[in-house]
Amino acid sequence: MQIVHHPDSVRHDPAQYFRRGSLIAHPEQAARYILLRDAARDAGHDLVEASDVGGASILAVHDAGYVAFLREAWELRGELGEVGDEILTGHFARPQMHRQPEGMLGLLGLYTADTSTPIRAGTWEAIYGSAQAAVCAAELALAQGHAYALCRPPGHHAYANSAGGFCYLNNTAIAGEHMRRATGGPVAIIDIDVHHGNGTQGIFYARDDVLTVSVHADPANYFPFFAGYADEIGTGEGAGFNRNIPVAHGAGDALWLAAVREALAAVAGHRPTALVVALGLDASQDDPIGVLQVTREGFATAAEAIAGSGLPTAIVQEGGYLCEALPRNLVAFLEAFDAARE
Ligand SMILES: [Zn+2]
Repeated sequence: MQIVHHPDSVRHDPAQYFRRGSLIAHPEQAARYILLRDAARDAGHDLVEASDVGGASILAVHDAGYVAFLREAWELRGELGEVGDEILTGHFARPQMHRQPEGMLGLLGLYTADTSTPIRAGTWEAIYGSAQAAVCAAELALAQGHAYALCRPPGHHAYANSAGGFCYLNNTAIAGEHMRRATGGPVAIIDIDVHHGNGTQGIFYARDDVLTVSVHADPANYFPFFAGYADEIGTGEGAGFNRNIPVAHGAGDALWLAAVREALAAVAGHRPTALVVALGLDASQDDPIGVLQVTREGFATAAEAIAGSGLPTAIVQEGGYLCEALPRNLVAFLEAFDAARE
């Protein structure tokens, strides 16, 4: 498997995260990139450094004002007076509040959904590099059948115009739209992260040319809480082109794999020309914030089933947090995918 990555991924490394009233170590650390990259290399996969293919594929799914904000916010931090290592707000726009403020503090609240996505000195370089990895992997997948993008920071909670849930640029959506434009045909996205891919759903919700299917822990009592329910099927022309398969917490391999197979059946029914896999590994039984109890064998079985679609496939890294099982689960997924495609 070709492992597309960008070394700038390490330039965003948030220290703290506000959870349930306490500041804790931020789960989405630069060490994830190093751990996953080195594990893939040591397992014999080929590392490919993402080249800079420009911002067009980012702007194909993201709001230009939002992207400019992400690029410029750190340089404009002086507006806030004295700041530390990062800028962040505690004031967020509610759904019924639509005005665009002028100042940096207001814009932070307009363009972010929660306190998990601070902007730091290297944040733009890291998220831009991560998006480049997604585009390069999409290109490789179309040329050679499949490729893996080691995107970090992750992307699937980012909407067209907002960051949240550790995500800034939606790498999965960027890869999907890039493949749709390249093939001219409909594209499917299957998201198996433990959390609902709410940003990806939001980006394509009114469209019939990108099918979005997400298998995730029931959001009724789990992030992202406000989206990810089975009755969210798309709107307008996109009605019928979004599918959510929430899974009961504690599900384990059998129930989770049944949901993955249901998702694959939905994908097959739409006859896409290409596939993006939003590969969160946080459904693992060992993940510090996961709740689905999936084993390494479970990930390997999912990989084999997904590879069976036969479609050009870009596998995009999403969540999956620091634990001993994290690199092992990635290697198991990639090996099983490769083996099924041989
Ligand atoms: Zn996740």
